Amino acid sequence: MVPKRFALIAHPAGHTMSPFLHGRLFAFRNEAASYGSADIPPSGLAAAVPRLRPLSGFNVSIPYKRAIIPMLDGCDEKAAAIGSVNTVKNENGRLTGYTTDGEGFRRALEFAGQGISGKTAVLGAGGAARAIVFEALRAGGEVTVAARPHSLEAAHALAADAGKKIPGARVSACLISELRGKRDLLVNATPAGMYPQTNGCAANAELVENSACVFDAVYNPCVTEFLSLAKALGKPAVGGTGMLVCQAAASEEIWLGAHFSDSELLELCAETALETRKKFGNIVLCGFMGGGKTTCGRLLAAHMGRKFLDLDEFISAREGMSVAEIFRIKGEPAFRKMEKEAVKGLSHASGLVIAAGGGTLLSPENAGAFRENGIVVWLDASLGAVRSRISNDGTRPLLAKPGALESLYTLRRGRYRGAADFTVNADESPENIVKRIMGLLKPADTPKQED
Ligand code: NAP
Repeated sequence: MVPKRFALIAHPAGHTMSPFLHGRLFAFRNEAASYGSADIPPSGLAAAVPRLRPLSGFNVSIPYKRAIIPMLDGCDEKAAAIGSVNTVKNENGRLTGYTTDGEGFRRALEFAGQGISGKTAVLGAGGAARAIVFEALRAGGEVTVAARPHSLEAAHALAADAGKKIPGARVSACLISELRGKRDLLVNATPAGMYPQTNGCAANAELVENSACVFDAVYNPCVTEFLSLAKALGKPAVGGTGMLVCQAAASEEIWLGAHFSDSELLELCAETALETRKKFGNIVLCGFMGGGKTTCGRLLAAHMGRKFLDLDEFISAREGMSVAEIFRIKGEPAFRKMEKEAVKGLSHASGLVIAAGGGTLLSPENAGAFRENGIVVWLDASLGAVRSRISNDGTRPLLAKPGALESLYTLRRGRYRGAADFTVNADESPENIVKRIMGLLKPADTPKQED
């Protein structure tokens, strides 16, 4: 049988996770299908659709979820009502549009043990907000669409449209700044906080405080500022990865009649989060002194075209004194506090290569913060390699005490192992270590190269 072919159309399409997601979903079913992606500029959409007709189906992403509708042969009732299509099925040459974003949102919250039938405020009035508002209203929820001043009109139009199409819908619209009172669920359906502008958040602390649970449609980074704020306030906080996975699974249900178990989808959520962290997050190198964190970090950054940051240098530049001076004048607890603040801030940055200090990743809090959106690699050097690399370094006071280096080395190894996503043997040359790290970070959907 000829393998079925599927694709994604979007603009831009470079950051998409869809080929990875569908590749894994096909593998769950042993389906010999292929999935590609096409970056189609807006002027080329109409010309692209005839070229998509030989496919068994395709996904549609930003900015074409509405624009594609008149170019199809029809839409199912849900997609027509919402006015958004993210899945197209080719049935004997007839292209039919469907939408699975709302279902993805609902199932992601169900996985987290949360419902959507209570009082919900949705921030944003674009495509994601449309799917989410309709899904919550269909589940019997009461929804307020909240927007910034210049998109207030779009929020009112969305509320009016949903009110007209869903009998008995309880839906209204207002400015985000006018949201008052308590609610069950606060949804971010704006791109605020999304890669590469990761330091954004559409909600303030008061809005989050008044919400029993929060959901962020943004999936890159996995943990946005919005989710961090909610976690800090003790609220259940659900990220967009589950929605992404569940909308993809629902597309395959439409194309192939596929059914995926909860455990398969949860496994894929974890894999997708790891892939997202690998592709976009910081790469943090940890390990014992002499492990090569700084040398390999600089080399890795140069190879990957990323910016390098040495955490100790970053802290000493902030404080205006060297780390040794901070230890001597302010003491180690003060340094660890500065380090924790620096790690917290950097965990919301993306695309950096960071050489952590020898003690940074011993703190589970620091390890957790770095791993939320990035990858931690332990450079595991043998005691012999460490000894030979630091033997001429007079700035390491630990070397002075007999046996201190050995016992510290033994104590810390288990902690580094526990903190890291990946371990690399660091006895080799920096070039080889960097080659190994780059191999570990290769995206799972990278086509295999012939040697
Ligand atoms: P969109 O159609 O461009 O709409 C974005 C909406 O957010 C607009 O109403 C925009 O209004 C508003 N907005 C933008 N920045 C804002 C800010 N800082 N504060 C308040 N409002 C702001 O985009 P979309 O398709 O709805 O996508 C929104 C997000 O959802 C994206 O990050 C996308 O990746 C994500 N998404 C995730 C999934 C998933 O499966 N997890 C599915 C679909 C979408 P203004 O006119 O005021 O800018």
